[in-house]
Amino acid sequence: MNDEGSAAATSTRELEWDTPMYRLAVAQLDATAERMGLQENIWHRLRTPQRAHVVSFPFRKDNYTTVETVFGYRVQHLTTMGPTKGGIRYDADVDLGEVTALAMWMSWKCAIMNLPFGGAKGGVRINPREYSPGELQRITRRYTSEIIDVIGPDRDIPAPDLGTDEQVMAWIMDTYSQQKGYSVPGVVTGKPIEIGGSLGRKEATGRGVVSCIVDACRHLGIGFEGARIAVQGFGQVGGATARIAASLGARIVAVSDIKNGIYDPRGLDLARVTAHTAENRGLEGFPGADRVSNTELLALPCDILVPAAIQNQLTEKTADRVQARIVAEGANGPTTLEADAILDARGIFIIPDILANAGGVTVSYFEWLQSLQHFLWGEEEVNSKLISLMQGAFRDVVGVAEQSRVNLRTAAMIRGVGRIAEAKRRRGIFP
Ligand code: NAD
Repeated sequence: MNDEGSAAATSTRELEWDTPMYRLAVAQLDATAERMGLQENIWHRLRTPQRAHVVSFPFRKDNYTTVETVFGYRVQHLTTMGPTKGGIRYDADVDLGEVTALAMWMSWKCAIMNLPFGGAKGGVRINPREYSPGELQRITRRYTSEIIDVIGPDRDIPAPDLGTDEQVMAWIMDTYSQQKGYSVPGVVTGKPIEIGGSLGRKEATGRGVVSCIVDACRHLGIGFEGARIAVQGFGQVGGATARIAASLGARIVAVSDIKNGIYDPRGLDLARVTAHTAENRGLEGFPGADRVSNTELLALPCDILVPAAIQNQLTEKTADRVQARIVAEGANGPTTLEADAILDARGIFIIPDILANAGGVTVSYFEWLQSLQHFLWGEEEVNSKLISLMQGAFRDVVGVAEQSRVNLRTAAMIRGVGRIAEAKRRRGIFP
């Protein structure tokens, strides 16, 4: 096969990572590649991960007698653009297909933002809520040891995702540094400030989501101030999105966690919600608001809906009932292909995940730069650089959408895949 050659099609059904979520990521790529007339060999390279690591290891529970076998993954989708970058999630349902799909989305996301990274993602198949902090620390350190040869500041840089946080990043950084014999802050991003984290990283994904919503409102002629926003998920992404949007004058009418949702059409008092969540490890028992399920939340009367929990929330069954005019995807993959078509046909403006939640990896990039230089930027500087890159990316994607007469998801994919294809073409094939 030469650089211009075609590729023999591989049936994805035979592959280890073939799962519904992987198929969603591939279907999005296929539709984009077809529309772009993407060179076939590049198209086929992008459908599969360049490297996929599966590990299993023993872990001793606090009672000392029970030993469990834990499964972990790290997938590096594309090494063409620079080191790979992507979060690590702790979730009982995580599998190789999910991690592969998430790694692919990271590749497009980094390319849309013009960041010098390929996509990666990792996962450990546990329910983090079932383990003590000591147990989580031991799982994290052993998982890090298992993947230590494939991560590193020049190689692959993890970050927080579903079920992991800055403490988990600190344990990864410490384990990696202990093995190297010196401190290596650049091996992860999203770590605590005290060990080289960046100011503004914790809220960065939410800040980016809000930046896109503000731009979308302006684009559609909808007032942002007083707009009613429903947020599914009140974690790192959903919590920050809700707080920042409220601070700019929007009305947060609903939020949820894994078990409960709360709704108040007059707007929730987020300081109270945040304090209650911290005290009770969730929204259970929050007084003075109606209770709604996670599914009901999606259909509430609101102007803007932000799914910011997990994948596959907007489906054939729920998309018909969405009342919002804008859907801003804080989570990765919250909308199935069928739901995407339904929302599109109903004229609902979807800000796709690969654009809407790209603020996280953008400030991760800033953190990586600061860690490599052992230098701390001010918070104002971080936030204003983030907003400026997010606004630029939004304008750019809207421009592609208008020029190619496609929706924002397809436009974002065209931009991301197009940049990667051009880099691949320039680098050629080895040997
Ligand atoms: P998190 O663990 O901090 O919060 C997740 C929230 O969703 C919590 O409120 C949790 O209770 C809820 N949740 C968990 N499982 C659920 C379920 N089965 N049903 C309904 N709700 C559930 O995670 P996060 O980091 O905020 O990530 C949320 C989403 O955003 C994920 O899709 C993640 O991949 C994506 N994302 C995160 C970042 C980041 O910087 N953390 C960046 C980009 C995208």
